[in-house]
Amino acid sequence: MASLSLKHINKAYPNGFEAVKDFNLEIEDKEFVIFVGPSGCGKSTTLRMVAGLEDISSGELWIGDKMVNDVEPKDRDIAMVFQNYALYPHMTVYDNMAFGLKLRKVPKDQIDKMVREAAKILDLEALLDRKPKALSGGQRQRVAMGRAIVRNPKVFLMDEPLSNLDAKLRGQMRIEISKLHQRLGTTIIYVTHDQTEAMTLGTRIVVMSAGVVQQVDTPQTLYDRP
Ligand code: ADP
Ligand code: ADP
Repeated sequence: MASLSLKHINKAYPNGFEAVKDFNLEIEDKEFVIFVGPSGCGKSTTLRMVAGLEDISSGELWIGDKMVNDVEPKDRDIAMVFQNYALYPHMTVYDNMAFGLKLRKVPKDQIDKMVREAAKILDLEALLDRKPKALSGGQRQRVAMGRAIVRNPKVFLMDEPLSNLDAKLRGQMRIEISKLHQRLGTTIIYVTHDQTEAMTLGTRIVVMSAGVVQQVDTPQTLYDRP
């Protein structure tokens, strides 16, 4: 069964601008799908609709066997990692990671177990009591990912998660994300401008332009063509 289905999805913003037009895509379990395309072509809008942060104007969004158009973000089996991390500055790493679970009324002892497990996977155990401002860029990015994986969602959405990091760190984090994908066995949709990221991480690449899907292909076919 497909992990995620986007069926004839359209998005018109309140000002009438059509940001996404007839978007169709079936994503299988454990795929790592990359969205590429020029700035403003509708990548983030699509991701935000999948996350439930933006209403869908028409069409159907399915997660597993459930149509989720009207399901609240917190009740979708999805977690999103943003470019700017979106950590709570006044909360510790632990509380940042626990927040989404508290919101969902998970019992405290279970939260503790889940946070510590995620911290172990991301090598954050020694940093749990720190506030975001006392972390490096790479550590903040790991906390942002920790906040997402702690819930063990079916689908991860990542919107240019590495674009604020320097080249060296970006390379390291790319390897970590790849390992995380294999280890957790989740489905990922990932927006990037970086061709190396697209080629090394993606199992399929969706090329968008002006709100329309132009091409869907494997990285090999897309980039190795003579
Ligand atoms: P991308 O992620 O590919 O850079 P976006 O999905 O952010 O593109 O934006 C797609 C288009 O929709 C852009 O032209 C952008 O200006 C427009 N847009 C984004 N948000 C809004 C909004 N709230 N109202 C009107 N237009 C918007
Ligand atoms: P979840 O685990 O459900 O993704 P989040 O912690 O990401 O929960 O966000 C819960 C709510 O708090 C959302 O409405 C989100 O937009 C908002 N939020 C997230 N980060 C911040 C922040 N740094 N400042 C203000 N609001 C935030």
